[in-house]
Amino acid sequence: MVFQPQLKILISRDEIAKAVDRLACEIKRDYQGKQPLLIGILKGSFVFMADLIRRLDLPLEVEFIKLSSYGAAKESSGKVRVVQGLKTRIKGRDVLVVEDIVDTGVTISFLLDYLKKKQPASLKLCALTDKPSRRRVPVPIDYLGFTVLNKFIVGYGLDFDERFRNLPHIYTLED
Ligand code: 5GP
Ligand code: MG
Repeated sequence: MVFQPQLKILISRDEIAKAVDRLACEIKRDYQGKQPLLIGILKGSFVFMADLIRRLDLPLEVEFIKLSSYGAAKESSGKVRVVQGLKTRIKGRDVLVVEDIVDTGVTISFLLDYLKKKQPASLKLCALTDKPSRRRVPVPIDYLGFTVLNKFIVGYGLDFDERFRNLPHIYTLED
């Protein structure tokens, strides 16, 4: 039987679109005259990345990296691994990491440390959502869409057990 949980809209597609516009303005302003490399974390960031880059008229490049994920559970194991690495050298590049959600901060702080060792010219973070109540590792977010409360969210790229990435709004998963 197909699992049919209750979904409640938390952030509508219009609110998301407005936030993406605002973030794109901030990023454009800060990266004038530069050729940033945007690195998305798979899979959750791919929808956000697709919308964000189409609002950015900069000579940018896009890369993706895949880190070990939650699997079918809603809790992070706390251990992060690079499953699929970068195909581009980032030494001397202006790197902007694009993430769907910063929760405990374990994943993103691992990635920022990993990238820092490769000596980019600059390294910043753009996150669509932030759940600060769950933070275990401090993470500086340079560009943030929304702060959300401590509920599991899906849609707009975010999954539960690989489902719901295709939904246009962001929803809370009620159990
Ligand atoms: P962290 O390492 O910060 O705890 O977890 C970050 C990753 O966990 C996110 O990139 C995302 O893939 C996943 N995650 C954390 N909270 C949520 C949530 O509420 N919904 C979904 N779908 N994924 C989440
Ligand atoms: Mg993610």
